[in-house]
Amino acid sequence: MAHSDNNVLEDGLSAEEMMNNGHGLTYNDFIILPGYIDFTPDVVDLTTQLTKKITLKAPLVSSPMDTVTEAAMAIAMALCGGIGVIHHNCSPEYQANEVLKVKKYKHGFIHNPVVLCPTNTVADVLKTKKEQGFSGIPITQDGKMGGKLVGIVTSRDLDFLEDQNYVNTKLESIMTKLDDLVTAQLGVTLPEANSILAKSKKGKLPIVNAEGNLVALMARTDLKKAKSYPTASKDDNKQLIVGAAIGTRDEDKERLRHLVTAGVDVIILDSSQGNSIYQINMIKFIKQTYPNLQVVAGNVVTVKQAKNLIDAGADALRVGMGSGSICITQEVMAVGRAQATAVYRVSQYAKKFNVPVIADGGIQSIGHIIKALSLGASSVMMGSMLAGTSEAPGEYYFSDGVRLKKYRGMGSIEAMDRKDAQGSAMNRYFHSNADKLKVAQGVSGSIVDKGSVFRFVPYLQCGLRHGCQDIGVKSLIKLRSMIDSGDLRFELRSHSAQLEGNVHSLFSYEKRLF
Ligand code: GDP
Ligand code: GDP
Ligand code: 5GP
Repeated sequence: MAHSDNNVLEDGLSAEEMMNNGHGLTYNDFIILPGYIDFTPDVVDLTTQLTKKITLKAPLVSSPMDTVTEAAMAIAMALCGGIGVIHHNCSPEYQANEVLKVKKYKHGFIHNPVVLCPTNTVADVLKTKKEQGFSGIPITQDGKMGGKLVGIVTSRDLDFLEDQNYVNTKLESIMTKLDDLVTAQLGVTLPEANSILAKSKKGKLPIVNAEGNLVALMARTDLKKAKSYPTASKDDNKQLIVGAAIGTRDEDKERLRHLVTAGVDVIILDSSQGNSIYQINMIKFIKQTYPNLQVVAGNVVTVKQAKNLIDAGADALRVGMGSGSICITQEVMAVGRAQATAVYRVSQYAKKFNVPVIADGGIQSIGHIIKALSLGASSVMMGSMLAGTSEAPGEYYFSDGVRLKKYRGMGSIEAMDRKDAQGSAMNRYFHSNADKLKVAQGVSGSIVDKGSVFRFVPYLQCGLRHGCQDIGVKSLIKLRSMIDSGDLRFELRSHSAQLEGNVHSLFSYEKRLF
């Protein structure tokens, strides 16, 4: 094509041109221009780097916040191809145990089943049924998980009890005893367990070790609906991968030791302003002590901040300051940066060193994820998007008929005051125990029930594929290469353009996303 033709077809702005006007831009300030489609969305490859050495099949990370990521979230994120980062607003032992739960997770096995002892009564089973919804309960001698298995009680054992006073019946008199139990040995694979259940025609399969102690339980209902997760994020031992956050104080080295023992794959240095001597020293310490452990440093929003952490040995950078939904840093500290600009500037610098960028905070929709990736981020970290799912910590409650869960900033007074936290949330915001007054950098609130991550994250992935299709790219790698070639075209949006881009002119509507 002749050069002049090219100019005629040139439309919109390159990323550099768009970012060069001196204003800080947020995701809503711009739009990506569509490209050419010659493929279907299902061929789009979402593979990306989390860190120099860790590859994910989906660019999605759950935030280390105490209302977002503990083991259940991290397991679900990893099964879906992303990764979860366990928060550190808890004791080191608690955090390490959450990491261990993810590393030990085996699909289809219930690792922590409710267990009772022979002298418990039918009332205890009914209580479990009412509160947790199941009644298949293994019985161990001491009533604890890990105790010697002596029997099992299931709904069928209760259904035929006719005694008036049956709720006080001791389980030892109705349970199916060890001699009649079909069990499997520790180490049994999913297909083997499946065929044992198929032969025995039972609903539960207790798994025991060589000493006969209960180590897990399987339920036929789970096997029937068991899905495989071909894109799950796994290490070389086929265990799910997991991250954990720590601070940069001396005592965090002890926390780190617990996490490494538990098998953590990546450590996130959790600081709202990562460009500090403490963090640089911590990166060097980790790289020296545990050379194989990947370290995500941050948070940063400028090139100079990024340089110091990359020079110290960071394997990825977490980018964002003040853009989070629960965050009041920019308001209180007058410091931070608009998120789209921060992601672009840091990514441009970091890619020279092959250091991937995690765009952290401010993600409100699939469109925001696509925008972060199209500015150079390799993955996004989400808090509010994943809070309110059934895998997020905390119980649901109702307010005005709406089903809610709590979601709060780690710099909110409430999170910093958490009793068992040992000041780890405060650590993120450079508070010391000597500080008499805390300055909050976050708020505490609630968020609407979003259902399960197992439905929500596939929806995000599907949306990302459609976004890539509209842009005309078959992979995230290609998307990033188009930033520098200038082939990815952008346009700034006026205020009215943003209004036009949202639903308008309707009297009422329902926004169902999937
Ligand atoms: P039950 O026969 O009443 O125990 O119930 P089902 O086997 O039909 O369903 C139990 C469901 O709850 C399965 O999906 C289990 O994975 C799940 N579950 C989670 N924790 C436990 C637990 O501690 N014990 C049991 N029995 N099931 C659990
Ligand atoms: P249900 O259909 O939910 O009541 O549960 P199951 O199919 O697991 O159990 C049916 C009956 O078989 C109950 O009386 C159990 O106590 C008894 N049973 C006998 N041996 C076993 C065994 O090895 N595993 C299980 N789960 N139940 C057994
Ligand atoms: P969201 O996805 O909800 O918009 O933002 C989540 C991100 O906000 C977290 O990953 C973290 O970087 C940041 N964050 C979490 N708690 C606080 C807080 O209390 N104050 C500030 N400034 N940022 C927070």
